[in-house]
Amino acid sequence: QSKLDLICVGDELLDGRVRDLNARMLGEWAAERSISLQKIVVIPDSLDTIVAALNDTESETVVVSGGLGPTSDDLTRFAAANFLGTELQHDQEAEAQLRARFQTFGRTPTENNLVQCLFPAGAKILYSNVGTAAGFLVQKGSQRFYFFPGVPKEFSWFVRSTLDGAQEGESSVNRLFFFGIGESSLAQKIATLDLSKTQLSYRADYPVIEVKLQGASDLVSSAAAAIRHDASKYFVGQDQDVLEARLGRLLLEKGWKVATAESCTAGGLSARITEVSGSSQWFDVGFVTYANQAKSRLLGVSPETLNSKGAVSPEVAIQMAAGALKASGSNIALSVTGIAGPGGGSAEKPVGTVHFALATDKGVWHRHWVFAHRDRTEVRTATQIAAITFALH
Ligand code: ATP
Ligand code: MG
Repeated sequence: QSKLDLICVGDELLDGRVRDLNARMLGEWAAERSISLQKIVVIPDSLDTIVAALNDTESETVVVSGGLGPTSDDLTRFAAANFLGTELQHDQEAEAQLRARFQTFGRTPTENNLVQCLFPAGAKILYSNVGTAAGFLVQKGSQRFYFFPGVPKEFSWFVRSTLDGAQEGESSVNRLFFFGIGESSLAQKIATLDLSKTQLSYRADYPVIEVKLQGASDLVSSAAAAIRHDASKYFVGQDQDVLEARLGRLLLEKGWKVATAESCTAGGLSARITEVSGSSQWFDVGFVTYANQAKSRLLGVSPETLNSKGAVSPEVAIQMAAGALKASGSNIALSVTGIAGPGGGSAEKPVGTVHFALATDKGVWHRHWVFAHRDRTEVRTATQIAAITFALH
């Protein structure tokens, strides 16, 4: 099994300005390939510190992220040359590419920018087609050092395009997502299957549980099918085929449009549905009716019902969905009304109580959830996912 070290360079990663996305990306990438990421080191833009970090590695492959830019605080290439005991050399091809890219913006590179065309002598230059900076690869002793730009989009492009070919590892990975069931209950259901030949791991990302399967491709896909079957009631998506993508596909197949009527999520449900590209084909309109008066004015919810039952009630959810269906001319309308907290709960309606309704020309269906002991963000996220699940099942 191959081993990997990661060095992330950048002051901004240490002072809290930027969250380290590259470590996360590489960690996931490595885990999917059963490559063992031995350590992640985060260091400032300092020449000596970078050299010391390069010296302090043992894995056969070392990835360095960041500090390849044109500004005076970008020191990684200088540190690399220092570490190798070589000079930096100008690369003609890198300059030609840099100039060509600047030209597409109608600009010419400055003297600063040309620093990005310097590489340690003997390095293999890794040309990019996603950004301005090229990366490079050097060998020292039995170790290979990959230097990639820090911009997350560029970094992940370099990882995929250069590291993928360099590592063996035939295994494939499936991620399955479940909602409405706890981690341990799900594990119990799955325990009845024989999955001895696939590696199984769980991750709770409230309100969704992710099950990751890893192993030989055919075994992984049959295990995924078995788990989906056993826990079908809670299954909400797999890999890229997430909940909102599945909803979109279903609506597209039926030629239907959906409208939303949201109270406690205030547009979050609409935003989630429209995460999927092409969603204008199935998403019609979203009503954000936060105040009671808006629920009456836009959706025709009766003020008496609001008064007697309260905004968070089955009756109001039902009237919201029916009103949205009527006001929009969509084929299906989804409503949510709930108490996101932290205030506003009562013994009868605790924080996390949410009512949902789904209206079509055939009728209106209601259900409710209590997302107990959850904070505002969690309740709002869970509400969106529960609403789409309700529409799907
Ligand atoms: P470029 O030539 O594109 O500037 P670079 O190698 O110089 O690339 P940096 O200057 O280190 O990269 O960072 C460029 C941008 O990427 C900055 O906005 C920085 O905050 C961000 N960045 C760098 N490293 C990371 C990281 N590990 N995670 C998330 N963002 C990062
Ligand atoms: Mg930097």
